[in-house]
Amino acid sequence: MKVVVIGAGVAGLGIAWRLARGGARVTVLERASVGAGATSASAGMIAAAAEMGHGDSPEAAFARRANGLWPDFAKELEAQSGVNIGYRRNGSLMVALRNEVRRHSHSAENPGAANLHAQGADITMLDGETARAKEPMLTGNVAGAIWAPHEALVDSQALCRALAVAFVRAGGELQSNETVVRIETDAGHATGVVTPFKTHKADAYVLAAGAWSSRIEGLPPEAVPPVIPIKGEILVLAQPAGARLPEHTVWGNEIYVTPRGNRLLVGATVERAGYDTSLSQDAQEWLRKQSNGLMPSLEEWEIAEHWAGLRPASPDGLPILGETAVKGLYVASGQYRNGILFAPAVAEVLSRLVLERTADVPAFSPLRFAGTKPDTVSVIETPHKGGEWRTGF
Ligand SMILES: Cc1cc2nc3c(=O)[nH]c(=O)nc-3n(C[C@H](O)[C@H](O)[C@H](O)COP(=O)(O)OP(=O)(O)OC[C@H]3O[C@@H](n4cnc5c(N)ncnc54)[C@H](O)[C@@H]3O)c2cc1C
Repeated sequence: MKVVVIGAGVAGLGIAWRLARGGARVTVLERASVGAGATSASAGMIAAAAEMGHGDSPEAAFARRANGLWPDFAKELEAQSGVNIGYRRNGSLMVALRNEVRRHSHSAENPGAANLHAQGADITMLDGETARAKEPMLTGNVAGAIWAPHEALVDSQALCRALAVAFVRAGGELQSNETVVRIETDAGHATGVVTPFKTHKADAYVLAAGAWSSRIEGLPPEAVPPVIPIKGEILVLAQPAGARLPEHTVWGNEIYVTPRGNRLLVGATVERAGYDTSLSQDAQEWLRKQSNGLMPSLEEWEIAEHWAGLRPASPDGLPILGETAVKGLYVASGQYRNGILFAPAVAEVLSRLVLERTADVPAFSPLRFAGTKPDTVSVIETPHKGGEWRTGF
């Protein structure tokens, strides 16, 4: 079987790697370079409980499934690529500051925390003092925290490199700097993808172009995934000589901080700004102010990097995963804030669907939108532009 995958982010590469391992002849077409989209911009948190709790929703179940797949996925990927992806279960602390106890959804005194407990999530409630003992850099203003020991992280830039190497070693063909401009169809079937260089023909096509998945021409409206970009900015702080780096991912004061190597990522803004990825002074000041409020000694840390990326969001907030109204054209998109967390499950579900026609997740079917326009997506933005409170990945 021959398959063409559009997009070399974590979704496209993960699926392509699994397809190639499953015996398919796979070509990945990437407009720019490996990981050029949201994947490299992400914080790399594998945070099922912090984001989705432990409920019965299809998304929460999918997150738990993905979280369970991660350790073996990481091990296999590192073995096959020889690239260290920095996967580790460092645990998350979801902290409530005294002034935000009433409104923080992860507050130890908030029903959200009780719900997590009631639903059987593997979490522990900590008082302020115990939370500070776990992360001594925390402000003395901590009222309490939830400790989620199974939350993990990965270096998403290394993850992309590893996936690309493993994919090519499995026999895959990776074409960077080759933009898909059109998908051709005939009588309801996908028949080719057109780039400036040639028309690629295959038995199946996978559209994994992230926030750009709705922008490729040629599809009938009912087959266009209604994905829109949601901008996120992250600051990277450099650890000063002699300073200790936080060990865990810490959520609180409307942001999160998470370690990567000898640096600390502070994120992230959530903003509807079209395809603009410019860096804003507002975002930088807001992230700085919030992280200083969470860990006052961070005031001394210098900004090493500042970046922005575009998350692929869908109208109902769920991933879009499966075959479209055009036969032979599959979509993997709409993972919004959780594309790194979901990656092993996305790769498994979509590769099995293409190769064996099994393992579909009906709740994520692209057919549920039937021609919905991409502009119907609604998100709650962070306050740096006057939006409401919401911590976003
Ligand atoms: C600031 C920020 C922080 C985040 N933090 C986290 C986190 O901690 N944990 C988590 O789970 N998720 C996080 N996310 C979300 C996560 O990054 C995304 O959900 C995920 O990376 C989406 O992966 P993707 O492969 O679908 O898209 P992308 O990584 O965007 O990849 C799509 C690729 O398609 C290519 N492409 C586009 N159009 C074409 C075309 N016409 N032809 C060929 N190629 C094309 C692009 O160049 C790109 O390389 C974060 C996102 C942001 C922005």
